[in-house]
Amino acid sequence: MSGETVLVTGGSGYIGGWCVAGLLQQGYVVRTTVRDLAKEAAVRAALSKITDPGNRLSFHAANLTADAGWDEAVAGCDYVLHVASPLGVADPKDPNDLIVPAREGAKRAVSAAIRAGVKRVVLTSSVAATSKGVAGSWASDETHWTDPAAPKVSAYAQSKTLAERAAWDLINSSDGKTTMATVNPALVLGPVTSRDFSESVQVVERLLSGRVPGIPRLGFNIVDVRDVASLHIAAMTDPKAAGERFIAAGQYAWMGEIADILRARLGDKAAKVPTRKVPDFVIRLAGLFDKDLGSVAPSLGHRHDNSSEKAQRMLGWKPRPIEQTVVDCAESLIAVGAV
Ligand code: NAP
Repeated sequence: MSGETVLVTGGSGYIGGWCVAGLLQQGYVVRTTVRDLAKEAAVRAALSKITDPGNRLSFHAANLTADAGWDEAVAGCDYVLHVASPLGVADPKDPNDLIVPAREGAKRAVSAAIRAGVKRVVLTSSVAATSKGVAGSWASDETHWTDPAAPKVSAYAQSKTLAERAAWDLINSSDGKTTMATVNPALVLGPVTSRDFSESVQVVERLLSGRVPGIPRLGFNIVDVRDVASLHIAAMTDPKAAGERFIAAGQYAWMGEIADILRARLGDKAAKVPTRKVPDFVIRLAGLFDKDLGSVAPSLGHRHDNSSEKAQRMLGWKPRPIEQTVVDCAESLIAVGAV
C-alpha cells in the first residue's frame, strides 16, 4: 500500500473517476477536484460500484476557469493527475469555449503543482494532439504534434494541443523538481458507472439504441478506460516516463466491426444495432441537423491510426482486447438504464 497522496482533477468524469478508483485500489490517498462540491455524493456513489474509498478520498472545489482552490487542492500532494478538461465532439460557435478552459486550466493545475513541488504531473492529453495533419488516411505516434492553426482542425483538437503545449512550456521553464508525462488517449470506451457518461461513449450508446441512420464509414483506435487509468498510474511512478508523451490506444475498429461485436455478444439486447451500411452523403446530410454527426463527417472513410507501441515498450502497458471493452461498455450502459 502506497500511502502517498495524489490529486486527480475532474474525479466526476469518466477517466478521472477510473483514475481515482485505480489509485485507491493501489493504496494511495486521493484528493479530487470538482467544479461544484454538490457533486461529491454522486461521485462517491459511482465510485462505490468499483471500490470502497474508506477514509482515503477527499474533495476540493476548483474550476479550470478560476484561480481559487488550486493551491489548496495541491498542497502536500506527491503527484497530480490533471485529467479535467471540457470534451466537445461538435465544434462550439466560439472555439474559445473549449480552448480557454482547457489551456488556462492546464496552466493553473500545472503551475500549482510546480509551486507545491510535487514529484510528477501526468496530464491527460489526447490523440487529437498527435495528428499528422495530412489529408486521407495516416498512422501517427507521439513524435507528431497537431498544428492548431491548420485549416479544419476542430476546436477540441486545438484545445488539447494548446493545453498540452502550455503545460510542457511551464514544466520546461521550471526548476526541474516537478517532472511531467502525458497520456494521449484514443477513443475511450469501457464500463460506465452512471448515466452521466463521457461523450466518447456515444459511439456504443448510439449503436445500441439505434440512434444512427445505419453504419457510417468511421473508425477509431479504441482504448479501455481501465487501461487508460492504469497508464496514468504507470506514467506517474515510472522514472522512465519523465518528459515523455504516451499514446493510449488499442486495436483499430470500424463502426461496422463494433456493431458486429455487439450483435455477436449481446444477442437480443443488440436488436436495435443497425446492420446496413450508410453512404457518406447520408451522414453529411444528417450532420446538418445533428451537430455530433456533422463534426465526424470529415473523417468518413479515412483511417487515422495511433500507435501505443511506446507505452507498451517503455512501461510494459498492455491494452486489453477491444471485444471486452465494447461488451463491458454496452453491458454497463444497459445496467445504468442509459439504453
Ligand atoms: P468527461 O467524463 O466529460 O469528464 C470531463 C471532466 O472535466 C469532468 O470531471 C468535468 O467536470 C471536468 N471539467 C470540464 N470543464 C471543467 C471546468 N471548467 N472546470 C473544472 N472541471 C471541468 O470526459 P472524459 O472522457 O473523462 O475526459 C477526461 C479527459 O480525457 C479530458 O482531458 C479529455 O480531453 C481527455 N480525453 C478523453 C477521451 C475520450 O475518448 N473520452 C479521449 C482522449 C482524451 P464536471 O463533472 O463538473 O463537468
